[in-house]
Amino acid sequence: MSDALDLHLTDAQRALYADTLRLATSGLAPVAASGEPGRVNRPLVRALAEHGLLTRLFTSATAIELCLIREALARGCTEAETAFALQGLGAHPILQSGSEALRSRWIPRVADGSVIAAFALSEPEAGSDPAALTLSAQPTGDGDGWLLSGEKLWISNAPDADLYTVFARTDPGAAGARGLTAFAVPGDSPGLGGEPRRMLAPHAIGSLTFDRVRVGRDQVLGEPGAGFRVAMRTLDLFRPSVGAFAIGMARRALELATGHALRRRTFGRPLRDHQAVAHRLAQLRAETEAARLMVHRAAIAHDAGAGDPSVAAMSKLLATEVAQAAVDAAVQFHGAIALERGHPLEHLYREVRAPRIYEGASEIQREIVARAMFRAAEDDLSEVTS
Ligand SMILES: Cc1cc2nc3c(=O)[nH]c(=O)nc-3n(C[C@H](O)[C@H](O)[C@H](O)COP(=O)(O)OP(=O)(O)OC[C@H]3O[C@@H](n4cnc5c(N)ncnc54)[C@H](O)[C@@H]3O)c2cc1C
Repeated sequence: MSDALDLHLTDAQRALYADTLRLATSGLAPVAASGEPGRVNRPLVRALAEHGLLTRLFTSATAIELCLIREALARGCTEAETAFALQGLGAHPILQSGSEALRSRWIPRVADGSVIAAFALSEPEAGSDPAALTLSAQPTGDGDGWLLSGEKLWISNAPDADLYTVFARTDPGAAGARGLTAFAVPGDSPGLGGEPRRMLAPHAIGSLTFDRVRVGRDQVLGEPGAGFRVAMRTLDLFRPSVGAFAIGMARRALELATGHALRRRTFGRPLRDHQAVAHRLAQLRAETEAARLMVHRAAIAHDAGAGDPSVAAMSKLLATEVAQAAVDAAVQFHGAIALERGHPLEHLYREVRAPRIYEGASEIQREIVARAMFRAAEDDLSEVTS
């Protein structure tokens, strides 16, 4: 890729990207390949730890560094990318809002790969609208904690994880986002069960059932009733890097497609000489790089304390949508071979779909952008008329 597209990055950030990409393709991909589809690959998480990536996640990682690491991992090994992101998503609420005791109990073990973390927000009736969640937290008689009852669904790393950040309703009287509390819940808590679900995306994902799972005050992240804010702070940090994950896949797909278009001949000439192929790939290259720059701007703004939800929304929207288009075109220009089980594009085709749904579906991102756009237009109008 052209250096011109990386001029906004420091030398250290460029080196981080290049080193992570090398590690993903040479060191991590073989470990990923030996995992069982749909279940947590513990050796892969330990390998991420041994190479220092997980420690970085919990010590110094800024949103832009998260983007560079996630893009490079995705380009070289999507399973490693997902394992990395989930350790962060699952344990960041503890780092950010947990007590000193919780942080020292969990963070070193998540960072050394001995504990697998998960972020449990979604429920059967609360996905895009997490404020509608109903997992109930009933105060215990002794006033020292709560009993969690209900279900979580589509939780990555469930049911294999050792630690769940769980969002529950401690105040049934408070509507919507108010009345939610975040808890750190060990995976072996009595009453906590779960089942794996088989999904198009190859990583571990499942349901969780809570049958009067006891949690103490010392397991609360932040304040009781402030759980929604804990969830949003974590998602705000990670949102641009979901886009980066998608961009890594888009770049990989375009590399595969351009390589194939050089080699494959039809009608007596290489595919690259068919303008329909070359121009489609050129268009997708341009859109991928534009989306990547938008992702980086969103991350840099977040790191500067100037994060703007509508910029983050635009970046996730554009990156995940262009990645879908790039992978689809790469499949198209490969023909049948790309659909064979085990082909890298068959794998990317399954991986690329979910990010348009999770952490805010594309329609939700458009809604955030539209609201900000019309709010600004109304403000402009009222300035003109006042
Ligand atoms: C691979 C994968 C991994 C996941 N991992 C996790 C995890 O680790 N932890 C976790 O908590 N959750 C996780 N999820 C769940 C994910 O966050 C939800 O799937 C997502 O929030 C959407 O919720 P839903 O599936 O219930 O769809 P719904 O909320 O039912 O929405 C369905 C569709 O309706 C449309 N829609 C909804 N609301 C609106 C609106 N206001 N305006 C316009 N259109 C709308 C969108 O097209 C949306 O895709 C994961 C999901 C997937 C697919």
